[in-house]
Formats: sequence, structure tokens, C-alpha cells
Amino acid sequence: MEFRDLKTQYQVLKPKIDAALAEVCSSADFISGAQVGALERRLAEYVGVKHCITCANGTDALSLVLMAWGIGPGDAVLVPDFTFFASGETVASAGATPLFVDVDPRTFNLDPARLEEKIAEVRSRGKYRLRAVVAVDLFGQAADYPKIEEICKRHGLLLLEDGAQGFGGSIHGRRVCSFGDAATTSFFPAKPLGCYGDGGAIFTNDDECDALLRSLAVHGKGSMKYDNIRLGVNSRLDTVQAAVLQVKLDAFCAYELDAVQQTAAWYGETLRGSGLKLPVVAQGFASSWAQYTVQLPEKTDRALLQERLRQREIPTMIYYPKPMHAQQAFAGQDGAASDCPVTEALCAAVLSLPLHPYMTKEMTQTVAQELLAALEEAAR
Ligand SMILES: *Cc1c(COP(=O)(O)O)cnc(C)c1O
Repeated sequence: MEFRDLKTQYQVLKPKIDAALAEVCSSADFISGAQVGALERRLAEYVGVKHCITCANGTDALSLVLMAWGIGPGDAVLVPDFTFFASGETVASAGATPLFVDVDPRTFNLDPARLEEKIAEVRSRGKYRLRAVVAVDLFGQAADYPKIEEICKRHGLLLLEDGAQGFGGSIHGRRVCSFGDAATTSFFPAKPLGCYGDGGAIFTNDDECDALLRSLAVHGKGSMKYDNIRLGVNSRLDTVQAAVLQVKLDAFCAYELDAVQQTAAWYGETLRGSGLKLPVVAQGFASSWAQYTVQLPEKTDRALLQERLRQREIPTMIYYPKPMHAQQAFAGQDGAASDCPVTEALCAAVLSLPLHPYMTKEMTQTVAQELLAALEEAAR
């Protein structure tokens, strides 16, 4: 069994993908080809924002936004403690200080109450200029933007939505990547909408920010490529990736997003009442199910459980084994001192199960049965 079955997806989409790739190769328009602009327009429309700026990957997307906002030394940015490293890494790479905020144990996302506390704490200490909040849509579910947007507005903080895992999700019909002052996503192959390599995008309604990002992503270009009015980076989405993404976006909208929601529902049916804590989707929210992550009972030997499942050819993953504040890269910095007990407990208990749009009901039942059998064996 595949954790995320990109091979089957390719077999299903093969005629269209192969044709799209052949077209790019024939045109030899490998950089900034027509497919890139066409994809940006489609993505902006799908998400419901004015501008989409594609770039080389989801990490660059975060960095470019921080760059556009002029975030650097002396600034602090609040980041959830339970996320992929890039959410905080990019803040530190910009020269600013990431400070970590604990999450909600049910949704895995930034806890608005803890965010309020952290803002008060950082402001009263006065060591940093608090500039922004990065909120992450972990495992496919949007963070609590109705509350987080209000908090950021009230405190004069910029809000960056890291939607790398959330693309396709929504809150009361408003799509992921439309929240905050800018939002980013990743097209890493295993994300909800993935390409055949690295890729990323930024979304914003701000015209000035859009212009600045387009300049920063292409060596700080001015009126043209060889007129360089500021320092930037080289971060573009390849035409080949844009062509693949157009085909994948069709499938994503037509049936893949519905399929993962069905798969998650099947898991819910078979695993409910089993003693596992199942993922919770908040009222009015829709998840794009980047991951299906359960929490194991406290006395489970997780390594043994994974090994038993591996023997039965069921791959599982641990997203994430370590809180951000405990990462060695932040050792000795103020972020390392963050107090995040919920994240610590989650890191010890989480297990992500295979989930993708090409899973059958039988496959989810097999995973559930094997998981419950292995759970008994691994109870300490
Ligand atoms: C994957 C991911 C990123 C980085 O995306 P890349 O395209 O791999 O650079 C950033 N944030 C989160 C939450 C992610 O899951």
C-alpha cells in the first residue's frame, strides 16, 4: 500500500499529463511559459483572491512574503509550535525571531487563546518589535481565521496564512489561501495539490504587494529583467510544473477533493469508538485532508506499532515527532524557551495513516483492522 499513491494518480491522468508535458517540450518555453500565467489566473479564481504569484516552492513563498513585508532583525513573528519546520525556519532565515505558540489539541492548529497570551507577553517584555503571525492549516484544515484575523487586526499585526497543507479546504465556503494579508501554498508532490517536483504560490488581494513579490521573485526586477531595482531571489515555477498542475487542478476540482473527504469519512466509521483520538474538523470547516492523523492511547509503543504495520505493508508517518521550540536549529534562541505542553503531547501521540484520492473503502478497512490489531500488541 502507498502512503500517498502518486503512481496510480499518474496512470489515471497519464494521457493528459503526457500531452501537457509534450507541449511544453515542443514549445521549449521552459521558463515563464504561457501555462504559468494561465495557472496563476485559475488558482486566484479558485481561491477567490485578486493575485496569485507562483514561485519555486512553498518555503520560498513564505520567505518572499516576509521579504516583501520587510521583516528582519529585531522583529519577532509568532508561529505555531506544531508544524513543518519551514513555517519557523523562514522567519529565522529572514533575520527575525520566531516565537512559538501552542495549538488546539483537537484541530492541531494555532490556539487563539494562547496567541492572545503570547502577544501580551512579547509586548510586555519589549525586547522585539512584534510584526506578524504565521498561521498554518495543518493536515488540510484551516486555522481558526475568524478569531485569528480579528486578533491580528486588533493588535496591528500582519497575518500570513501558511496553506501548504490546506489547499482545497474552506471555512463557511471561503477557501484556504484567502485568509490573512497574504497566504502561501506548496505544490510538493505529496501535498493536496502537488506537481512533479517543487513548486509554490503566494496569494494576496494587495496590488502593491503583488507587484513587489513579482519583482522579488525575479532578482528584484524593475521594468524588465535586466533592470534590477532591489535585491531579490530567483524563485519561479517551471512551465513544466504549471502544465502538470493545470491537469491536476482539473482532477482535484472534479473528484479528488471529494474522494479524500470520502476516505476520511470511511476511516471515521471504522475507527470510531476504538480508543484512538480521531481528527476533528470544526463546525463550518472543510478539510482537504493532507493527512489523516490519529492520536494513540498514552501507553502505546508507537515504534513497535509502526513496525507491526510495516510488516503488513501498511506505511504510516509521524507528523511531527518534535515541537518547533525543541528543534536544535533554534537552540539558545528565545523561541526555544516557549512553553507548549499541547504540542509536546501531540508529538508523542500522533500517527498519520495512508490517505489519498485513489483509496478504496476496502483499503481503509484493511488499514483500520490492522491498526487495531497492532494496537493491542503494542499496548504497554
Ligand atoms: C510542505 C510545507 C512547507 C514547505 O513547502 P515546500 O514546497 O516543501 O518548500 C511549508 N509549510 C508547511 C506547513 C508545509 O507542510
